[in-house]
Amino acid sequence: MGLEDGRRQKVCPSCGAPVEPGAKYCWRCGAKLEFEDLVNHQALSREEDLLSELKEIVKSLKRLNELETRVKELESENKRLKEELARKEEELKALRSLLE
Ligand SMILES: [Zn+2]
Repeated sequence: MGLEDGRRQKVCPSCGAPVEPGAKYCWRCGAKLEFEDLVNHQALSREEDLLSELKEIVKSLKRLNELETRVKELESENKRLKEELARKEEELKALRSLLE
């Protein structure tokens, strides 16, 4: 599957008859085939654009996830340090009261 198959197995957009690659008109109903090609090509390149945009978004989301994890780590580290500081202050207060 893919572009190669799509190019080889072309069908008429109006009647569905299989047509030769590069044919300008359908042999069965006489519909013009060139225009459909152009539309398909535009749709395809638009699809590719959207796909690469989507990939960028997914990449950004992954990065955001990593950053959120990092923030959580730092927050818990911060909490731990604050608790340690409070403990040290208590110790210091106790020492001071011994000296007085
Ligand atoms: Zn046709």
